[in-house]
Formats: sequence, C-alpha cells, structure tokens
Amino acid sequence: MRHRYTRDDHIDRVIRMSPNPELRRTKILATLGPATDAPGVLEAVLAAGVNVVRLNFSHGTAEHHRIRANAVRELATKFGREIGILADLGGPKIRVEKFANQKVQLKSGQSFVLDCRVDAPPGDETRVGCSYLGLPQDVRVGDTLLLDDGLIALEVLSVEGQEIHTRAITDGPLSDRKGLNRLGGGLSLGALTDKDRADIRTAAELGVDFIAISFCRSAADIEEARTLARAAGSNAQMVAKIERAEAIANLREIVDASEVVMVARGDLGVEIGDAELPGLQKTIIREAVERGRVVITATQMLQSMVDNPIPTRAEVLDVANSVIDGTDAVMLSAESASGAWPQKAIEAMARICLGAERQFKTVADFGSAQEHLAHVDQAIAMGAMFLAEHIKVRAIIALTESGGTARYLSRFRSAVPIFGMSRHVAARRRMSMMRDVHPVDFDSGDMSPRKAARAAVEKLFSLGLLAVGDRVVITAGDHMQQHGSTNTLRLLRVGEGGVAEGLGKL
Ligand code: PGA
Ligand code: MN
Repeated sequence: MRHRYTRDDHIDRVIRMSPNPELRRTKILATLGPATDAPGVLEAVLAAGVNVVRLNFSHGTAEHHRIRANAVRELATKFGREIGILADLGGPKIRVEKFANQKVQLKSGQSFVLDCRVDAPPGDETRVGCSYLGLPQDVRVGDTLLLDDGLIALEVLSVEGQEIHTRAITDGPLSDRKGLNRLGGGLSLGALTDKDRADIRTAAELGVDFIAISFCRSAADIEEARTLARAAGSNAQMVAKIERAEAIANLREIVDASEVVMVARGDLGVEIGDAELPGLQKTIIREAVERGRVVITATQMLQSMVDNPIPTRAEVLDVANSVIDGTDAVMLSAESASGAWPQKAIEAMARICLGAERQFKTVADFGSAQEHLAHVDQAIAMGAMFLAEHIKVRAIIALTESGGTARYLSRFRSAVPIFGMSRHVAARRRMSMMRDVHPVDFDSGDMSPRKAARAAVEKLFSLGLLAVGDRVVITAGDHMQQHGSTNTLRLLRVGEGGVAEGLGKL
C-alpha cells in the first residue's frame, strides 16, 4: 500500500523542523520513566513538543537517569532545538515500610499501628513499619494521617513509645512503601536526605539545568541545595516545590530564594486539603510571576490519560485554566512516565495550551512590573514591552547572555513572541521553561551591537520565524559579553532577503 501524506504527517514534520512548535507560549514539562524507555517512544514524545524533561529521583537508579539524560541530549541535537533537563530530588517523603504480603486491606473503624522502631518486622493487617523514626514525637492525639495521597486516612488515638496507635477512618488497600502525610502539615523532617545529597552530585555530573527540591519549608532549604549543587560543580537553577503547609506560610521568601517554583498539587492537596488547591494555585502563580520567577503547574493534569488515549473534559479545562492563571509550564507525571499513552498525552497538552492561548490574549501588566523595577535591564525590558504593545510588532528579540532579559520580558505574559538569542547553551535551556520565550542559538562574537541586531534578524528570517515587512523590537547590551548589561532598545523592520532596516515612520 502506498503511503498517503496526511495532515498529521505534515504537522509532525513542521514540529520536527521548527525550533519551537507553532510558537506555543506555554511550555511542557514531561516526566521520563519506563513508558518513555520503550523503543522509539522518547523520540516521539520529544518531537510532540516537550520543552523540558523531568528525571524523577524518587524512582530508578543513577544509571537510569544517566541513560535517559544522554538520550535526551542526543535527540535535542538531532532536532536542533533546546530541551531542558530537570532533576527532581525525592526529598523526605515519609513512607510506610513493606508488608509481609505486599498489600493489606484496611477496614473503616479497625485499629492499626504505625511501628516506628528501627527493626520493625514486615507489616500485616494490624501494623506496619515507617521510614521516619521521629514520627511519634511529631504527631498528637487526634491528628489525621493520610496515606497513599489521601486514599487511606488514619486517626491518631495514642502514642506509646515508638508506636502510633490509630483507627482507620476509611476502607481501602494499603501496599508497600506508600507515602504518608499529616493533614495540616507540620512534620519536622528536614528537606534534604542523604540520598538527596548524593543525587545532587549525580545531577551535577549529568549537567542538568534545573534541580527541584521536594518538600522545602523555607529559603534556607533552597540555599542549602544550591550550595551543595555549586560545590558539585552544577550551575543548575533551583526549583522550589510548594507541597507542604510550611512552604505556604513562607511562600514569599521561598519564591525569592529560588529561580523556579512548582505548584506541586499532589502532596499539597494532601497536606492542606483539596478544597484549598484552586486558590493556592492562583496565589503561587501570581507571587512567582510578580517576583520575576518561572512557575510550573504539576500533577494529575491529564491523569486519566495514564489509561485512556483522550483526556476528560475536566482535565482539558484544568490545563487551560492553568494557562489562563499564567503558568509558564504544565507538567506531566505518570501520564508520560508510566502511562499507556505518553505521546498522546503530550499532544493533548500542546493542543489544549494552544487553544487556551488563542482564546485569551493577555495584555502586558505594567503596574506590578513598575513596582519591582530595580535594574537597567528590567527598565529596558519594560520599554521593549511598551513598544511591542503599542506598535504592531511581530516579535521581541532579546540578545542575552544569561537569559535574564528574556525572563523579565516573559513575566509580562504578553502574546508577543520573545526570541531569546544566546550563545550559551545553559542560558538557552533555562529559557526553554519560560512562557512566551523561544530560545535560539546565536553568537554575536565581537560584532558591534548594531551589527549583532541585524545579524539576529537575518538568522530568525532564515529560520522562517520572521517574514519581510515584520517589525521587531531588539534588546541588547553595549557590552554583549556581560551578564545584566542590557541597555539598548532598537526598532527594526525586516527588509528583502531578511536584511534589517530602520523604520521610516510608525
Ligand atoms: P511528586 O511532586 O510527583 O514528586 O510527588 C509533585 C506533587 O507532589 O505534586
Ligand atoms: Mn510531591
């Protein structure tokens, strides 16, 4: 049978060819796992539009992560576009230990003991060990303990030495190594475990672009992780996962201490209660955007696609609402890592984001930007955005060393595409997480700023990202090799053959 050339083939080719598929504004973060290890799947998943991959250090060995990271780098080179890598540390997730027969069935009203002794025997219907030996000191009579993301609830009746006596409030299965949270949070475990410290060194060796700190409570937790990363030779950006009640109490300082923030809805929903999630998601996104940080919305976004090839309507609305809330990136966990439809999940994400972006054209918010104006490059970014909003321009071009100017531009959430052009691969990968920003490899060498601006326009024209007649705003520094030196703004028009020229009149 002859191969018929379908529209999907065409879209697929365009996606493979273009530096950023259809200039989708919202970025897609996809967790890798057994599902993406199957032959051909990683390539298909990345080609479907993934901007950043997540290596989940809660599962798998350092060797797994190394193989996956290398495969991602190779494919990114093949596609000719940037794909960031995020190492997500497991953190101090409290878990029950194993059962003699892997699993038990709990009945509402029955008593159940959490045995926090070092040498607790394998569990049964009446008791099980616990990974956190300090738990008896942290809980109080009347506390509700939630297991397996809230599927099982236990009420604390008494604490006797290293044993916590509870009563089951719900029926349900409990199996090996399921997570445990306290409703309301407040368990005193530190943020970084010994395994996390070792994993930071592995992440540094893999050259990851982002390191995510699970269950962080304060700015100090982020600083500690950053210090360890720098000592291991990593320049990765710190991602604060907001998933504990304490992190909400210290939200401002955590946002200020990190470069990226994650609305980690899985554990957050268990600790704070699911009814608080919609409000918290909006608050966290707003805080992050106002303070110039990048923000990821995570967990169960397309959960039903673990089993099904299409999302539920509620999931479609959830992803779209996150885009409307102003998130930089949306994340897939089990949907891409272990589900039956990883590629379709990415395609659904991309489609829903594009749809939401088409419906809601955001207009740049200058008010809050003014409040946080502290540097010359921020002022230039604001000027560029003002021009972009008031004159019809096709794009803003940021000639940037670190990606910093692109980040300021991104925070306006304007619908104007921002081409973040940098000679540094690390900066380009950082920009792969930013909303509205499309990283492009560009080295202006020792060109004058004027020449560099023209060369940048020609490059974008040759990539098919600009057309004759397009107007562009360009930000750059007089001293192009210096971070934070952006101090000029240019308005140019694309002439014949992609040659940039000045504008006669507006
Ligand atoms: P996790 O973090 O998937 O590592 O648990 C995200 C969340 O809790 O939402
Ligand atoms: Mn979590």
